[in-house]
Order: sequence, then structure tokens, then C-alpha cells
Amino acid sequence: MAYTELCTPKRIIMTPGPVEVDPRVLRAMSTPILGQFDPAFTAIMNEVMEMLRQVFQTKNHWAFPVDGTSRSGLEAVLCSILEPGDRVLVPIYGRFGHLFAEICERYGADVHTIECQWGEVFEPGRVIAEMKRVNPKVLAMVHGETSTGRMQPLEEIGKACREQGVLLVVDAVASIGGVDVKTDEWFIDALVAGTQKCLSVPSGMAPITYNERVEKIVLARKKVERGIATDEDHAYTRSMRPIASNYFDLGMLQDYWSPRRLNHHTEATSMIYALREGLRLVLEEGLKARFLRHKLHEKALIAGLEAMGLTLFGNPAHKLPCVTCVEIPNGTDGESVRSMLLDEFGIEIASSFGPLHGKIWRIGTMGYGCRKDNVLTLLGALEAVLIRHGVKLNRGEGLQAALDVYAAEKTKSVVMN
Ligand SMILES: *Cc1c(COP(=O)(O)O)cnc(C)c1O
Repeated sequence: MAYTELCTPKRIIMTPGPVEVDPRVLRAMSTPILGQFDPAFTAIMNEVMEMLRQVFQTKNHWAFPVDGTSRSGLEAVLCSILEPGDRVLVPIYGRFGHLFAEICERYGADVHTIECQWGEVFEPGRVIAEMKRVNPKVLAMVHGETSTGRMQPLEEIGKACREQGVLLVVDAVASIGGVDVKTDEWFIDALVAGTQKCLSVPSGMAPITYNERVEKIVLARKKVERGIATDEDHAYTRSMRPIASNYFDLGMLQDYWSPRRLNHHTEATSMIYALREGLRLVLEEGLKARFLRHKLHEKALIAGLEAMGLTLFGNPAHKLPCVTCVEIPNGTDGESVRSMLLDEFGIEIASSFGPLHGKIWRIGTMGYGCRKDNVLTLLGALEAVLIRHGVKLNRGEGLQAALDVYAAEKTKSVVMN
């Protein structure tokens, strides 16, 4: 046999996704397949919906995954709401804002954008003023912008959208499971998450949730596939144009995720198992404890990087806890540093995109990968690699500063107990 059995190298993945998958999730994925209409499987689907509502902090009925990577969730939500000519406002503060605008354009929306410098977020008042001026049907905004490591405050914007009757669609792909995202409290109408970031599940599903405002539009555009429609379905009168995509039609997905269990795609059974276990892990740890864990390892990582003499990128007041951006020291070949980290230590960190390409590294501390051993191993390895690249830094101080953070935390929890 020419091909060997699959055998991957040992890696520490510290990118903003895909991240290391929790071993419990990997085990769940090897559970035997069930038929997608088997009551044993539909019961699992219902559990996934229940757990998603808790993780999304919502009372919305609709909470289920779209099969496809995270952008499939963005596309499903947008194409189900938007008709050609509908106005959308997209405030862009990094790569994924551009993705929102691009998806909306492809569905023929009238897209208005405002931009701010990468590394910053929007002052909510600016977004609200623009929203009032443009009067869009949808305001689409990224919550955790992985390309710049920033997090946009949404509550004020959400409240203004609700008052104005504008639908707020949020990309929380990078933040769900790592930082607080309050779907209902922040007046978010539709929210899209990712599996391969803070949920520590492989890439390939996009959990979404949406409220009755969005559902109303979806029902007005509802269509049942010709080959499976009943007389009643044929008689249904649609008040709006049908949704342009079959795969991403939320009306059809809803029918599949409802007691009707109307056939649509063939469910990715193993990914449902994976997502279920990923969500179970989040709920078992508790949302609050999980967010605190992400903050703790962020704190240790930052302390280590700064003590080493490196400079963080971006406005610190709006940092996304699970992504830490570091400026590449002047004259250093960032890609050579990344290669050496991978080749010599098996550690992967990320570069960035667009205006930040070649300027920063991005370090992810997400989900299962957000651990003390990973942070300490990375700090030690990065120091060694940077010294190898002739960078002048404070030798030995990075790891000590991170260890100090962990020691202080230990004292604190002893006192608290
Ligand atoms: C990773 C990411 C995406 C894209 O997800 P895919 O799974 O690659 O489609 C979208 N938005 C944000 C904020 C992300 O971090």
C-alpha cells in the first residue's frame, strides 16, 4: 500500500481558528451514525437547539446549525432576509466586515459601508447616526473581529436599531463561547456563531439564532421544494419573493428543524455529535467561568509578551480577549518567525490580512486551546525564536511575568475559597 495510515504531527494551535479540538468532541465524533429522521437522532437535534439557546443567551425559538463553515451561517441569514435592492449598512473595522458587505452585494442588496481604522472599533454614536441617515433594512456588524483582535460594543447600537425598526445581524463567530454575547439583552435579531473558534469543534457548521422579526420575513418568503410539497404547500401564498438560495433557505431549514422534519439536506450527523459535545462542555464549565478563563490566559499572555519587550497592536480598551495581536518588531521577517515556531516547536500562530499583512502576528487563546501550558510554551518558544532572529528583548522576563499572573491568580482563588 503506497499510502500510510493518517498520522498528523503534534501541534499546538494558537491561531484564531481552527483551534485544537477537545478530545471529548473527537470521541463524540466517532459515535455510530444514525438516520437523520430516526427519533434517537431527532432527539439529539432538539438537545442541540436547547443547548444553543443557552450559549446564545436567548429565548428565541430558532437556534440550530447551518451545515457549512461559519460564513454559511452569515450567508443563510442574509440571503433569507434580503431581497435585491434592500438597503444594508455595514460598519467595517476589519476583514470580516468586508465579508458581510461582499455577501450582501452578491444577493443584490444596496450596500452602504462606513469604515474605521483597523485596530479600532466604532464609537456607537457614529454607527447610530449613520443608521438613522441611511435607514437600512439591516445593520450587519461583526462582534469579535479576528483580523484585528477587536470587539465592538453592541448594546447601544442594538437598542437604537430596535427603536428604528432596523434588523441587527451580528457575526459572533469568534466570540461565542469565549466572551459574553447577550443576544436578547443586546437586541440582536440574528446571530451567527462558529464551531472552530471558542467552541473547540472542527470547522463545518455555523450555529445561528434569530427572533420572530426575522422569522416573519422568512415565512413571507417561504417555499417548499417542488418534489416534496403537499397540496397545502402549493396553495401557500407568499407575500414576498422566494429566497434566492435553496441550500441557505432558512424557511426550508426551519421546516427541517421543526417537528415537521421536512427533508432538506442530508444532515452532517457526526458534526451534530461534535457540536453537541462542544456545547455540553461549555455548559458544564459554565458561561461565566469560561469567560473568566479566557480573560485569565489573555492576561498572562499579555503580561508575558509585554515583559519580553514586544508591543501589542490595537486599541486596548476594545481588545477581543481570545485574540492577541502583536506588532512584528521592525526589520523582523514575520513569516520566518512563524515558520520556525512551527518547524522547531510545533506551534502555529497566525499572520493577518489586508493593511495588517506583514505587520502583526495574531495569537489565539480559544476554547480548549486556551490553557496555561499553551501560553507558557508559546512564550518560551517565541522568545527563543526571536532571539534566533536577532531581536533584542528582555531575556527570561516573559515567562516570569506570565508565571506571576498565574501565581497571583492561585493566591486569589485560595483566599476566595
Ligand atoms: C473565522 C471567522 C469567519 C469565517 O469563518 P469560516 O468558517 O472560515 O467561513 C467569519 N467571521 C469571523 C469574525 C471569523 O473569525
